[in-house]
Amino acid sequence: MANLYCLPMCSNRSPAVTLFTIPSRKFVKKEKEIWAERSECIVLACKSDQHLKNLFARDAVKLCEVHFEGSDISLKDSSKDLREGTVPTLCMPMLTLAQIAYIQESH
Ligand SMILES: [Zn+2]
Repeated sequence: MANLYCLPMCSNRSPAVTLFTIPSRKFVKKEKEIWAERSECIVLACKSDQHLKNLFARDAVKLCEVHFEGSDISLKDSSKDLREGTVPTLCMPMLTLAQIAYIQESH
């Protein structure tokens, strides 16, 4: 099972694109919990399947950089890093009203 997971409509598989690990709820400490919960909710609202849930359970969910604003990405020792608290907002599939309600309800 590949570790790579991006959003369902994302066909970005270029090696030049940086992949960011999305925090998984079970693997973060207190201060990152809200961030992890939000990310998990948004990604699962886009596509909720068992494979994706398994990846979250193994802390192996990655999204490519096109889903994040440039200002949300920091450069650390010439490698890119996601700023804490950042959630994917760009190139997202259209969410249904039910999915939006689901995200809002969980927060
Ligand atoms: Zn992507």
